[in-house]
Order: sequence, then C-alpha cells, then structure tokens
Amino acid sequence: MELSKSLYSGKKGWLRLQEIISDYNPSGIYILVDENTFKYCLPVLLEKCACITEACIINIPSGEANKTVASIEKIWQMLTVGKAMRSSLLLCLGGGVITDIGGFAAATFKRGMDFVHIPTTVLAMVDAAIGGKTGINLDSLKNQVGVFAQPKSVFVFTEFLETLPERQKLSGYAEMLKHALTDSQDHFADLLGLNSPMNACIETAILRSAAVKIEVVEQDPSEGGIRKVLNFGHTIGHAIEAFSQKNDTDPLSHGEAVAIGLICESYISSKMFGLDRNNLAKISAHVKLHFKHYTIAAGTVDELLALMFHDKKNTDNTQLNFSLINNVGNPVWDKFPGENLIRKSLKYYMDIWKVI
Ligand code: ADP
Ligand code: ZN
Repeated sequence: MELSKSLYSGKKGWLRLQEIISDYNPSGIYILVDENTFKYCLPVLLEKCACITEACIINIPSGEANKTVASIEKIWQMLTVGKAMRSSLLLCLGGGVITDIGGFAAATFKRGMDFVHIPTTVLAMVDAAIGGKTGINLDSLKNQVGVFAQPKSVFVFTEFLETLPERQKLSGYAEMLKHALTDSQDHFADLLGLNSPMNACIETAILRSAAVKIEVVEQDPSEGGIRKVLNFGHTIGHAIEAFSQKNDTDPLSHGEAVAIGLICESYISSKMFGLDRNNLAKISAHVKLHFKHYTIAAGTVDELLALMFHDKKNTDNTQLNFSLINNVGNPVWDKFPGENLIRKSLKYYMDIWKVI
C-alpha cells in the first residue's frame, strides 16, 4: 500500500471518511478517544459524519502514562463487549498516544481489525500517525511492545487544532522543524517564513511536513536505513526528555526536548560536516525565539550521556549513533561524533542563551 495515497485532508478527506465508514456495517464502527478528544474533537467528527452516531465510543485516560497494557486490555474488552468483529473499524481520534495505542489494539484484536487514524495534534498529524508504528510502554521502557501495522487511511483535519493548547502545538512544531531541516533549504525557509509555530498549524504546512515522513517511510518501512534520518535531534533530545521527566516538576514535552536536541545536533553537524555557520545560527536563533530556555547544569552532562547510551535506538554499546545533516536538506546517518563533541554541543546550547 502506498502511504501517500492513503492520506486525506480537508473537504475531500471528510468525503472519503464518510465513504469508508459507510463501507462498514453501522454497528461496526468503534471510536477511540481520551477525555480531551472526547470533549473537543468527537463532537466535530460526529457533526461531519452523521452516519456514525451509532458508533461505540471507547474512552481512555489521556497521557503517555496511560500507554499501558491496562489501556489495551480495556480496549480489547470494550471491543469484545461491543461485539466487534475482524470486519469492524476502529477510528483512532487523538494525539500520538491514541494513535499508538489504538493501532496496537486494532492490529492485535482477533488477529487484526481495520483502523484509521484521525490525528488531532500537530505531532500526530506530521509524525505519530504516519509510518505504521504502534505500541505501548512497559514500566519505564518507551514503546517496548508493539507491531508495525498500517492504518487503512490517515486523515488530516486541521480544524481539530483550534482547541489544541499552545504548548502542544509547539511540541509538534519541533518535529516540523526537523522535517524541514532534513528535507530542503526551501522547506526550511518557508517554515521560518510563517514566523511562528502557531502560524504553522495550517493545512499546507502540516501536509508538507507529513509528506517528508511519508517519503522516508515509503523508502524504508522497517527502519533499516534512511528512516534513521527522522532521528535527527532525537539522540540528545530523548536524553534531555528522560532527564527532565525524572527531575522536573513540570517536565519538558517531547518536542521541547527535541528542539534542544536540534540545536545541539546541528552544532555537531557543523563541526563534523558541512552545515554552515549561517544555517546553524538561524536554527539556534529560531528555537531560542520560540522555545523556553532549559538549564543544563555542567554537573548533569554525565547523566545525559549515560541516558543516551541507555536509549535502545543508539544501538552500538560503545559509541553513540547519531543522525545528522550535512547541510539543510542533506541528512546523513550512522555517524559517531564522540563524547567530547557531544559535551561541546550541550555547552553550545547553554552559551546561546548568554548572548543578548
Ligand atoms: P502527542 O500527539 O503530543 O504525542 P497526546 O496523545 O498525549 O500526544 O496528546 C497531547 C494532549 O493533547 C493530550 O492531553 C490530549 O488529550 C490532548 N489533545 C489532543 N488533541 C487535542 C485537541 N485537538 N484539542 C485539545 N486537546 C487535545
Ligand atoms: Zn520525535
């Protein structure tokens, strides 16, 4: 199946969704939501698709902490009680947590029922809902259990973003920035030209960003090679995210941590490869303008490095594996900058906040 052909948006998208739904028995539709998408997004969906008023609503608590076996069990049970069959359809209406859990629950229920993603966050629209990754966390291990399973279709309806809190929009914007940086100088310039992460919540920008992920995933569905470019900003970003979750009362979101990772890994890219000073300065200034400052004390750098080694994506136990950019639009992967340069990049991040 070609992913690019299974993504729909706008008016055409609503028509296509109505069409898909009408292919199923009216009692065969199940909608997975959390308490926020139940409140803000489900009414919009039901208004647009009057044909699904009979659907069974499965409501699970929001947040990464609920990406658990317990949530999956609840979904399987509700599907069973609601007499779902393999020929039923699950609509996953929510952010990345809902698309990850919903995809996994559907892919495993009775050995696999159809599902579609209707992402309602920027992050899910440009990233989580695309690529067929589904799964849950196990204790503190993120995405430890899951399967690759493709949704029947993905629908991008930017009207859902009207109720999304600004901080959530900002988090998704970091992924948009990553996509633009790995895609092309034009994409990067156009995104910056929108002037703010809030302005980037428009269909053209979201679809362009989603297209970057679709293209990469189509070339490498099982993450053997080029898909690693999507990891740009994430080796350091994940470590900072984990550190913040452990130590801060109001931890950084995934995207906020990735934004820091993008600065550090752009710095590394400039030292190891051809990323020019001008672009490095642009990336740093842009993140500095829109994201809050996060203090990385000199004494915490060792712990951050330990977290990077601990991350299962950095496969080599002796060296940290990075995805970087040779210049804007020219990604490279399986690169090993070494500890010293990683330390310097964290210092670079701290230093840019000192410049007035
Ligand atoms: P993400 O897409 O960021 O991985 P989540 O599924 O955790 O993540 O969604 C982030 C938060 O935003 C959750 O609390 C979720 O309930 C809420 N949310 C998702 N979509 C919307 C929306 N359109 N309006 C308001 N809140 C939303
Ligand atoms: Zn990410």
